[in-house]
Amino acid sequence: MRDSVTIVGASLAGLRSAETLRRDGFGGRISLIGDEPHQPYDRPPLSKQVLAGDWEPERALLTPAEKLEPLGLDLRLGVRATGLDVAARELEVDGVAEPFDGLLIATGARCRTLPGTGGPVGVHTLRTLDDCLAIRAALDDGARRMVVIGAGFIGAEVASVAVGRGTSVTLVEALPAPFARVLGQEMGAVVADVHVANGVDLRCGVGVSSVAGEPGAMTVAMADGSDVYADLVVVGIGVVPNTEWLEGSGLTLDDGVVCDPTCLAAPNVVAAGDVARWTDPRTGESMRVEHWDNAVEQGRHAARRLLATDEEAEVFAPVPWFWSDQYDRKIQLAGRPHPDDEVRVVDGSTDERRFAAFYGRRGQLTAVLGMNRPRQVMQGRGLLEQGVGWDDALAVAAGWA
Ligand code: FAD
Ligand code: NAP
Repeated sequence: MRDSVTIVGASLAGLRSAETLRRDGFGGRISLIGDEPHQPYDRPPLSKQVLAGDWEPERALLTPAEKLEPLGLDLRLGVRATGLDVAARELEVDGVAEPFDGLLIATGARCRTLPGTGGPVGVHTLRTLDDCLAIRAALDDGARRMVVIGAGFIGAEVASVAVGRGTSVTLVEALPAPFARVLGQEMGAVVADVHVANGVDLRCGVGVSSVAGEPGAMTVAMADGSDVYADLVVVGIGVVPNTEWLEGSGLTLDDGVVCDPTCLAAPNVVAAGDVARWTDPRTGESMRVEHWDNAVEQGRHAARRLLATDEEAEVFAPVPWFWSDQYDRKIQLAGRPHPDDEVRVVDGSTDERRFAAFYGRRGQLTAVLGMNRPRQVMQGRGLLEQGVGWDDALAVAAGWA
């Protein structure tokens, strides 16, 4: 029986794990340690409603104060975990060692930066509330031209919000199509069409050499020799997991904290959310998932794992799922497609940009993509959970038309 649990990372996975511990009746001390100064908040609105100016930041809080207080957490904000010794069961916080009983690591990830863009102050990344408010302030100050580097989730959503605010956007992507690595070439091209139809100057298959200037007068030099001028630049080229503080801790680090299939990283230590890497029992694939639903579900699972015996421990085997709002389209994907999977539109049409598509490999359904098709994606997710084969999945979808 544990006396206390320490959670590092006061964000989505961390807070949801604390709530799970209390809901499951854990009465011991729960310390929730986070290096950001703000009450725990949700990130999806940062590239949507808060950036658009439709929500004030308070609306993005993960749990309102009146629900947070009864949890009786030892909430330590603005402090940083700086080291860990698994064998000695000691956590170092701002340089001071303290013992831990059970430890849950949920330190998430931070933005990758683009070499050659570190200097100018008009170059933004977007991960935190402060990042969001800085970009919002630039838009409020009348930025008319924006260059977005990287057409992944951040790039696509920021472009969409900026266009909605009347800013002209150039979106630069090194791959031949946005989301090509996630959705494959064919469906990536459909997403590209959505951006072009909304007036974005989309430049795919070209890199960026450098960014120079100052806010209001930036020059983005492209690898093909052309220059693009902008008032501000947003870089969204992926993230790196926050594991540096765990060097030498005794944990295995490999682009994340390596866990077993139950989320256990070492005796008395679990990990969850963007920072956690584990082997998916369904596919045998080592993975790290950078989406909201996974942080919630893995946070809950890891919390329970920390209180369970090895005999009681269960594997974490979710069907990953995400959504992305771009203009008036809701894009959702359940499962994990490979870029070379077979793709079949099973409902609606890509021309209308309202459709559901199945991905399949070796006779199995691997993923379901929807554009403004939430019901079909959720049903498809159920098929994935059941491990339904390709032909049977197509038979189900035939009933959707
Ligand atoms: P994080 O949210 O990264 O939180 C980790 C916390 O730990 C941070 O506060 C960090 O500062 C803190 N920390 C790090 N190191 C230390 C340390 N040493 N000591 C103390 N604290 C530390 N997903 C979707 O599925 N749909 C969406 O629409 C969507 N939109 C998004 C929009 C934006 C702008 C962003 C950035 C992400 C979005 N995501 C979305 C992804 C989703 O928000 C993340 O997967 C989720 O936030 C991961 O939660 P986490 O708790 O694992 O990590
Ligand atoms: P991302 O989704 O990984 O996309 C990064 C994109 O930038 C990829 O297309 C990548 O291409 C490209 N890229 C990489 N290096 C580049 C370079 N040098 N020049 C130009 N393009 C380059 O990451 P993100 O958009 O930065 O998002 C950050 C995190 O927030 C992710 O964890 C993401 O899941 C999360 N997020 C999620 C949502 C959502 O789910 N709706 C919304 C916002 C943010 P390659 O694939 O070739 O590297």
